[in-house]
Formats: sequence, structure tokens, C-alpha cells
Amino acid sequence: MSNSAPSPAGIVRVSLWGAVNAYLVPEDDGLTLVDTTMKAGAARLVAASEQLGQPIRRVVLTHAHDDHVGGLDALVERLGDVEVLISTRDARLLAGDRTLDPDEPQSKLRGGLHGAKTAPTRTLEHGDRVGSLRAVAAPGHTPGQLAFLGERDGTLLCGDAYATMFTVATCARAAKRFPLPGLATWHKPTALESARALLALAPERLAPGHGPVVEGPVAAMEHAVARGC
Ligand SMILES: [Zn+2]
Repeated sequence: MSNSAPSPAGIVRVSLWGAVNAYLVPEDDGLTLVDTTMKAGAARLVAASEQLGQPIRRVVLTHAHDDHVGGLDALVERLGDVEVLISTRDARLLAGDRTLDPDEPQSKLRGGLHGAKTAPTRTLEHGDRVGSLRAVAAPGHTPGQLAFLGERDGTLLCGDAYATMFTVATCARAAKRFPLPGLATWHKPTALESARALLALAPERLAPGHGPVVEGPVAAMEHAVARGC
């Protein structure tokens, strides 16, 4: 596990193998955990919260892919009474329902979608707030992906809308050296639109599901959107 330096608001990245990230966000009542990595990550995430000396009060999921929700059941087992939040749309994927709505692009869902036994305690829509975080719709990678903007310090927890392995890239195309987010993306034109919408937030730092936290990411995000990936 590698933790990186906390953001000004104290948001800490916890990474499995430097490649699969979750984040601990301090709030008045304890920690919000954003994403859960894989099953193997659950114990490490609890250990990281103990290092910070605060309990995990809620688990927020950016989207329902296995490498983001894989630790959920094990975490809930350990933590007991904890809030679980995901978008209303991806809650269906979490429950194992892979149907598409008639008004959605009829593209094949991609990536690991084995779901979880745990059901959300609340579902989220664009604009909803979770403590200091504001949910921002970022569909395309999955139909209901949400990014979360930390309003205290401009940290954008972007899920897989962007990855920062080797270089900043969107999931709208399979990047040469780290193709996984692109290969797991449901509808690439929608993903590119979402990347553009997140760029318009002009975040202070980009905190992705895969890769290191990038400070001052706007120019790199612009570049990624301009080349369509
Ligand atoms: Zn994903």
C-alpha cells in the first residue's frame, strides 16, 4: 500500500500496487471512503483509517466496476454500521442488473461487473452532496459513473473518467501504456463528453482511480480531451 501526501483538505490516497486507488476524505464525523479497490484491499483500507485515527463512516462508490466495489462486502463486514452510496444508475449494476434503458446508447457494458451483496443505503444524483464532496455526473465509462469534487480544496475524485498512469488520459480511448480504463469503457463518445465537463470544473488536483494524484492538472486534461483520449 502506498499513501501519498494528503491534499490541503486532508484527502489521502490509498493505493493497491500503486495502480488501484481509493481515497479517505476527512469530515466532521469521521472519514468518507471513496471506492474500495478489490477484496484484498479491505483490510488495508481499514488499517489506513486507523492510522488517521478516525472511523470510516461512509463508503462512496464512483462506479460499479469490480476494481472499485470489490472490497465493499468485506469492508461492510468489518465496519458494520456504515453508509453506502453509489449513483442511482450504477446501483443497478451493483445489484447485478445489466439491462440498458431504451434511451441509453445500446453499447455493450464492459469491464468486470460482478456486483456486490451489499446494497446502497442511499443513491446519488448529479449535484448531491456527501459531506464536503459534490457529486458530478461522469457517465460513459459506466452508465452511471459519478465523479466527486472536494469543495474545500478543489480535489476532483474522478473515478475512471481520467487515469494518470504514465500520462493523463481519458477513458474514451485505450491509452497505449495503460489501456484498461479505455477497454472497460461502455460508451466512448459519452465518456469524452464527461471528460470535457470535468475539465470545465478546473480542478486544483486530479485524484483518479488509477495512477498518482496530479497537481494542477488542467493543461494535461485539456490535452487529453483535445486528442480524444
Ligand atoms: Zn472502471
